[in-house]
Amino acid sequence: MEVQIRIAVQKSGRLSEDSLKLLKECGIKFNNGIKKLKAVSHNFPIEFLFLRDDDIPGYVEDGIADLGIVGENVHVEKGKSVDVIKKLGFSKCRLSLAIPKNEDYTDVNYFQGKNIATSYPGILGQYLKEKGVNSEIHEISGSVEIAPSIGLAEGICDIVSSGSTLMSNGLKEVETIFKSEAVLIGNTDLSPEKAELLNKLLFRINAVLEGKSNKYVLLNAPNDSLERIIDILPGMRSPTVLPLAQEGWSSIHSVINEDVFWDKIEELRQAGAEGVLVVPIEKMIK
Ligand code: ATP
Ligand code: ZN
Repeated sequence: MEVQIRIAVQKSGRLSEDSLKLLKECGIKFNNGIKKLKAVSHNFPIEFLFLRDDDIPGYVEDGIADLGIVGENVHVEKGKSVDVIKKLGFSKCRLSLAIPKNEDYTDVNYFQGKNIATSYPGILGQYLKEKGVNSEIHEISGSVEIAPSIGLAEGICDIVSSGSTLMSNGLKEVETIFKSEAVLIGNTDLSPEKAELLNKLLFRINAVLEGKSNKYVLLNAPNDSLERIIDILPGMRSPTVLPLAQEGWSSIHSVINEDVFWDKIEELRQAGAEGVLVVPIEKMIK
C-alpha cells in the first residue's frame, strides 16, 4: 500500500477552519463531514484525524499522528517531545495575567502570595519562577475569566486576543506572559518515506505562506524617475519594466512584502509613481 502521512487537526474550534483552509490552499482535496473523526485526501497521500487540540501533541509524540496543527500555547503547555516544523501565522493570541479592574497594579510582585486561576499551570509556573514570584496556581479547565468574580482566585492567566472578554468580566490585562500562533508539529522519528511526504507538504505550505505575506504591485512612472523607483522596489530578482504606449512612460511590476508595503507605496508615490495596482499572490516559490 502507498505510504500516507497522517495529520491531526482540531475537530472544532479556533484552529479548525484556518488549518483546513491552509491545507486546501496547498491543493489538497478532501471531504470533511463535521461529525467524522477521519478523512483522506484523493489527490495527496495524507489522512486527517480530527481531535481536541489538547490531545494533538500527545498523539504526535506517540506516532498515532505524524503531524499536527496546534497553538504554541498548547504545544508548550503539554511539553511533549515533538518537532516544531513551521509557524503558520494564524490563530495569533497571547497568554496574559489579568486582575479585577479596580485594583492598583505596579508590577508582577502584585501576584506574590496570591491565588491565580488558569488552564496553563505549566507556562504560568515557569513564568512566575523566572520572576521570583510565589503564587498559588489554581488549575481549571474552562471559564477562567469568571474565577475572580466568584471568589475562586484573585487573578487569572488566560488567552487574550482583543481583550473584550476580560473587560466584560470586569478584569484588566496587566502582563503578557506568552505569545502564540498556530504551529505545525511533527513526530521526531518519521520514516524516510513520511519525511519525504512532509517535505512535499512543507514546500507547498511555504509557497502559500510566502504568497500571503507578499503583494504583486504594478505601477506607471515617467522614464526619468525609473531609476529612483527601481531603487525603492525589491522584487524577486529585480523589477520588470515594460514600455507604455505613451512615449516616455513605463509600467513597472514587482513584489513587495507586507511588512514594508505601506512605507514603500508612500516612497513610490513621492518618486513619481502613478496608477498603482496591488494584486494578491496565491503562491510564491522563491
Ligand atoms: P478543544 O475543544 O479542541 O479543546 P479549546 O476550547 O481548547 O478547543 P479553542 O478556543 O478552539 O480551544 O482555541 C484553540 C487555540 O486557538 C488556542 O489554544 C489558541 O492557540 C488559539 N486561540 C484561542 N483563542 C483565540 C483567539 N481569541 N484568537 C485567536 N486564537 C485563539
Ligand atoms: Zn483545548
